[in-house]
Amino acid sequence: MQYRLLGKTGLKVSALSFGGSSLGSVFHEVTEAEGIHTVHTAIDLGLNFIDVSPYYGLTKAETVLGKALREVPRDNYYLATKVGRYGDAEFDFSAGRVRASVDESLARLQVDHIDLIQCHDIEFGSLDQVIQETLPALREVRQQGKVRFIGITGLPLRIFQYIAERAEVDAILSYCRYSLNDTSLETLLPFLQQENLGIISASPLSMGLLTERGAPAWHPAPTDIRTACAMAAIYCRARGIAIEQLALQFALANPAIHTTLVGSANPENLKKNAAWTETPLDMDLLTEVRAILKPVLNKTWPSGRPENN
Ligand code: NAD
Repeated sequence: MQYRLLGKTGLKVSALSFGGSSLGSVFHEVTEAEGIHTVHTAIDLGLNFIDVSPYYGLTKAETVLGKALREVPRDNYYLATKVGRYGDAEFDFSAGRVRASVDESLARLQVDHIDLIQCHDIEFGSLDQVIQETLPALREVRQQGKVRFIGITGLPLRIFQYIAERAEVDAILSYCRYSLNDTSLETLLPFLQQENLGIISASPLSMGLLTERGAPAWHPAPTDIRTACAMAAIYCRARGIAIEQLALQFALANPAIHTTLVGSANPENLKKNAAWTETPLDMDLLTEVRAILKPVLNKTWPSGRPENN
């Protein structure tokens, strides 16, 4: 496993990291025992950065993760969670709510500090409230020693520069914007590097679009993206390589991205994912698959308030 510095935080994070949304049964039903086993497998494989949120499974993911982490020495992993999103349409970035939220997360996760606290999907709220109210409240929480670093997450790329030009943040978490079908995060990399921000990319499988099983029913991608990704998956299968392998290797090949979060509640898939990071990318197959995906390249979907897209 490769390890990279997460911008100015100084945290040395694994290039492949563990996304905990699956522990909340976001993709399909996962038992607590399966979830705990998956977390232990991830840490044993060298994935030292774990991301979760109170939103995933409406607190279930944090609760299961907390039970798993009880058995792991605290300095064996870095822990990231979030504030501000509490349901599909439930957001609250007010100072009072986010202060309480950190305490609730600490209790569910059964730890005394969180390494990275992130404002979750800020495009659904007011970016100016995040600057004027949410981030200052989190800085107070940091002074109390409950969190070490502060970040922001979301889908539209413009939100990151808007915030980072106006407020101090340590890291950004972008998702579905650095994968086989969408590499638009590349356009933001020079700015992020200039600011020395931690760069976390999530969903290298485009939240299931780039899997043989296909995207879940709730996936927001329009039909043309779904169809192109399904065609790419069939093509890879015919060439004897799972699209998950190509997609993961592609996402991890860019050293400018400090860590890539992949979610799975299946320990066997995690083992495959870790092994794929050690094997070379098939450049011919990559060229062919990117040609199939070209009609939908960098196409995305709206998220949050129109003015934030
Ligand atoms: P992803 O794109 O990697 O998709 C995960 C899907 O792929 C799941 O269905 C999983 O079971 C499947 N999968 C994983 N490995 C596989 C394999 N080897 N073979 C077959 N299927 C496989 O990632 P994701 O779950 O969308 O995101 C990863 C993490 O990133 C999340 O858990 C979360 O922590 C974080 N995230 C954060 C935000 C945000 O803050 N707004 C958004 C998206 C993701």
